[in-house]
Amino acid sequence: MRFLVRTLPLGAPFGNRASTASTGALSFVPPCRSTDAQYVEQLQDFMSQVKHLFVMTGAGLSTESGIPDYRSEKVGLYARTDRRPMEHMEFIRSAKSRQRYWARNFVGWPQFSSHQPNAAHRALQQWEERSKLHWLVTQNVDALHSKAGQKRLTELHGCTHRVICLSCGDISAREDLQRHFEALNPDWTAHAGAVAPDGDVFVEDEQVLHFKVPSCECCGGILKPDVTFFGDTVSKAKVQFVHERLAESDAVLVVGSSLQVYSGYRFVLAANDRKIPIALINIGPTRADHLAQIKVSGRCGEVLSLIQAS
Ligand SMILES: [Zn+2]
Repeated sequence: MRFLVRTLPLGAPFGNRASTASTGALSFVPPCRSTDAQYVEQLQDFMSQVKHLFVMTGAGLSTESGIPDYRSEKVGLYARTDRRPMEHMEFIRSAKSRQRYWARNFVGWPQFSSHQPNAAHRALQQWEERSKLHWLVTQNVDALHSKAGQKRLTELHGCTHRVICLSCGDISAREDLQRHFEALNPDWTAHAGAVAPDGDVFVEDEQVLHFKVPSCECCGGILKPDVTFFGDTVSKAKVQFVHERLAESDAVLVVGSSLQVYSGYRFVLAANDRKIPIALINIGPTRADHLAQIKVSGRCGEVLSLIQAS
């Protein structure tokens, strides 16, 4: 397959119609101008030639559902707060850290779990229905692709809606754990502030001290959200599985990811090695801009809604 589109220079000018993203569910979408029509046309040409599309998505997709990302300027969690996500070894080693993590997660859960898919998730689900999309890999842990009905899906870093026992490996629903938390902590209250991309919120240490955390119902082991924390690695079997789906694809589209985390970036490098053409949709620069045939800067939902995938 051959693509007759030119690579866009970084910082290419965009259209004059400025659009704002400052209220409601769009509070966590970085400011951006409306996407220039010519770049959307180029992406449409690209898509018209694709038969088996491999898609990788990141936090930029979910900001339009009201979930902040970590790295965006001004609106990302790193820019707004000094909070940092849980490290894997800290969770494993420290009962106090686990207690704090689960107390905060318990408070944030009702709001975090209520987020709904947006136009971008729905567009990708429709591409799957029309057999355009071969496989979707997401770096997000918010379950919004599965809520949208996506089936051909790998959650690269797991999903906060599942809980795993570190001893026996039993998987259970996070929703069930919420009921266990409530039963164990009938008089415990705390208020949720801003909720992070993994459902974390800030809770005072004094309150955390009194929060009770249940053990695995099967074996008494330690419960952990079924997500890959920072400092942990994705299993070899999962990485291999994704490489196989990539090898079956004839084009790659990355949506809403700056690709700063290697566990996702490696698949774009592999696509480049295989001479599989790459397109990107993201607000702001990505680590793979120099590898892409097409780069569209704009909101994911807005751009994907404009693309015909038949
Ligand atoms: Zn267990």
